[in-house]
Amino acid sequence: MFTAIIGGGIAGLSTAWALTKRGHRVTLLEQGAIPNPLAASGDHHRIIRRAYPAASGYAPMITEAYAAWDEMWADLGEIHLDARGFAMFSQHEGDEADVYRAGLEDGGFPYRLLDDVEWAADFPFINREAMRWGLVSPEGGALHCKRIALGLRDWLIDHGADLRENAPVVAVDPAGIVVLADGTRLAADRMVVAAGGWAVKLLPELAQDLTVYRTAVTYLDPPPAVAQAWAKAPVILDLGADLDGYIIPPSGGGGLKFGTGRHKVLAEAQDADRNREPRDAEGAEILAHFRDVIRDVDDYTPLSTISCAYTFTADERFMARRFANVLVISACSGHGYKFGAAVGRRVAEAVQGGDIVSLQRWLSGQDSTRFTV
Ligand SMILES: Cc1cc2nc3c(=O)[nH]c(=O)nc-3n(C[C@H](O)[C@H](O)[C@H](O)COP(=O)(O)OP(=O)(O)OC[C@H]3O[C@@H](n4cnc5c(N)ncnc54)[C@H](O)[C@@H]3O)c2cc1C
Repeated sequence: MFTAIIGGGIAGLSTAWALTKRGHRVTLLEQGAIPNPLAASGDHHRIIRRAYPAASGYAPMITEAYAAWDEMWADLGEIHLDARGFAMFSQHEGDEADVYRAGLEDGGFPYRLLDDVEWAADFPFINREAMRWGLVSPEGGALHCKRIALGLRDWLIDHGADLRENAPVVAVDPAGIVVLADGTRLAADRMVVAAGGWAVKLLPELAQDLTVYRTAVTYLDPPPAVAQAWAKAPVILDLGADLDGYIIPPSGGGGLKFGTGRHKVLAEAQDADRNREPRDAEGAEILAHFRDVIRDVDDYTPLSTISCAYTFTADERFMARRFANVLVISACSGHGYKFGAAVGRRVAEAVQGGDIVSLQRWLSGQDSTRFTV
């Protein structure tokens, strides 16, 4: 079976990997380079962590996510996960960190509340006075996205997949024809659209399910007094209240990075290509959100800021839709990278066997049955 995949982010690359392993003929079309710095998967690192609200169904799926990454590392011959664990901090009863902690409790997943010694030794950069509690868990870390993309690109080429960079697709015909910007037409048995923030542009009917947002993250130099503490810190998943703030310490060639859900806005005209140039002061704007929770925030120096475009569903669950021979995958809502390898395996299974309903159930967190090859 010949499958054309549109999009070379983590969803498209992982699907190409899993289909190629199953003996399928694959062509992957990416509008930019792989990795594409404008893609949600094109940044240096993304967090993997067990913490999810208890009812979401995603926490148990982390076991499969880790297993799929392990399978990928074995194929790539390199591990692109810095398993440094994760930390989170609560400011108010019932805030997001509290909800995540309840999810850890519910699933019996490991974590430990910080004691006085750990607060002082390991988290001198956190404003402890603002926090009710802090916790650490070993089940998390930083995935090195650029390295994963490059590793998958090389693996796919070595294993006979047809990888085309700088090959924008301008139309997909549900019957199985892909039209490229240069006029080339490809006839495929199956198509997988994994176009991230651009999916709605390609298939406008997706606008009823997907909303495109624009955000940015900033890379910073910490003050020298806490540089060592940051260098060995776990990833920080949540800083309590409604900050929706996360921090990834320097890891895998990427520097210290701050981001917050507060910074996200609707994408202009729902177009992932608009407004992608970061503003001069955007790093400082992001940093300002952390004033109450990070000590001496004014002593951090923004080095670079990058913009991102990504899609959300209304309930922040992942989705798949089928239009005849076209399968659209949207595993984002700001938390999809960690499942990338697992998504690829599940999508390949659905492409091969045709069972889209099971894929949809799994993507929405409602089915954590074991994945069998
Ligand atoms: C700021 C931010 C922080 C995040 N943090 C985390 C985190 O810590 N942990 C986590 O698990 N997830 C996180 N996520 C979510 C995660 O990044 C996404 O779920 C994931 O990267 C989506 O991958 P994708 O392959 O679906 O989309 P993308 O990575 O956007 O890839 C889509 C690709 O399709 C290509 N494309 C689009 N249209 C066309 C076309 N017409 N022709 C050819 N190619 C096309 C694009 O160029 C792009 O390369 C975060 C997202 C953002 C934006």
